[in-house]
Amino acid sequence: MADIKVYAIPSLPVDKDYHIFVCYSRGDLENVHILIENLEKEGLKCLYHERDFTAGHSILTNMLDKIRKSMYMLVVLSEDFVNSGYAKHEVAEAMHLQISEGYSIIPLLIEPCTVPDFLKHITYIDVTEVEVSEIHKRVLETVVNHKTMTDLQESITGKCIACHVQRSRKNRLSCAIQEFKLIFNESDRARIADFRFQFSDKELAKIATTVSNSTLVRFWHVYTNFKLCACIICFIMNILYALIHTILMLTIFDQSKPVPNDGSILQVLLIVIPMVLWVCCGTLAGIEAPVFQKRISLTYNLQIKAKKLLMLELNKFNLEARKNNQIIILSHSLSNVCLILMRYDFRPCQTYFIKRCDRKEVLRKHQRAGESVVEYTNRLFDSFVQSSDVTLLIEPSPQQQKRHRMENNAKCICLIVEEMLCK
Ligand SMILES: [Zn+2]
Repeated sequence: MADIKVYAIPSLPVDKDYHIFVCYSRGDLENVHILIENLEKEGLKCLYHERDFTAGHSILTNMLDKIRKSMYMLVVLSEDFVNSGYAKHEVAEAMHLQISEGYSIIPLLIEPCTVPDFLKHITYIDVTEVEVSEIHKRVLETVVNHKTMTDLQESITGKCIACHVQRSRKNRLSCAIQEFKLIFNESDRARIADFRFQFSDKELAKIATTVSNSTLVRFWHVYTNFKLCACIICFIMNILYALIHTILMLTIFDQSKPVPNDGSILQVLLIVIPMVLWVCCGTLAGIEAPVFQKRISLTYNLQIKAKKLLMLELNKFNLEARKNNQIIILSHSLSNVCLILMRYDFRPCQTYFIKRCDRKEVLRKHQRAGESVVEYTNRLFDSFVQSSDVTLLIEPSPQQQKRHRMENNAKCICLIVEEMLCK
């Protein structure tokens, strides 16, 4: 009786159907079936090729789909596995996912064999000396502990939803005078719910209105079609000029008397005005010429100013960022405006940063008199989230430049803040 242990099986996240995808070679079928049976008795949802692949779908489609639907991949390592091409393919897909999405692979060594190179860097469970009927306990311990180690909150960090500013439907047919808007469509809303963002419908509507009504978005079509707009304005001006010209000419030729002396001034004006208009047109369009674009692109500078205004507005939603575990980031380039909603668990970063402050004096250089390290850290993190540097959270960073795991492969806040303070 003393042997019986109840495992706290982690509940499945919304987007997963299985705890474990079991990957093995046919030669180990018998042992694997015993293992799966025991794991399922304990409440762990398992998935394996023979039973759970959808008939009619290709193996590759099935594999990719099921890998995405499971939390971990258990790779049963044996001599047979090492020689099996198919099982290795599954693992290669999982490895790819592991790099891009933080998927977890657990190698399980059931008999002594040469561990393939691509799995060597992952800590494996050695059950070569364990009875088949007992193997599942080792797996359960790992899955349960792994869950405790990574913590549900940490796995959300860096999960992003990007919502692009789009052409609003009612002006679909018009070209240059198009109105842009931020609209949270149904799939956005579904993902917002899936990722458990704490935005009420009212708040989302408020965010969408704030973005849509901002100068940046309201005049986005002007910024992006600046040359076209300049040309349209000049075209209209020229039409107006042609009208005036015709009216004037008719007035002059209507008179039976010879053209008076001031007629020559009129004629000069008739030639000069269109030239001036064309020069204006050329200048307006030319301002955006590539040769100037890098430095003094007029529209880009205007966009930057408008962006700063919008960020100030959006910061209202970031005031409670640390409490709500979510950040709103405005991403803006010459051709695109995009609102990124990011889940972020601040605790690991804050805890670690507080420790770092003890060790590195330079990190406390902005600490105010009478302010505790905790208060100081809170202040630093709050101001970071509300600064324009927050976009660093959406920039992927090389492997060696990371600290806490981010779903989007960027640097975490504690590392960014530390780097800024050490500059
Ligand atoms: Zn961190």
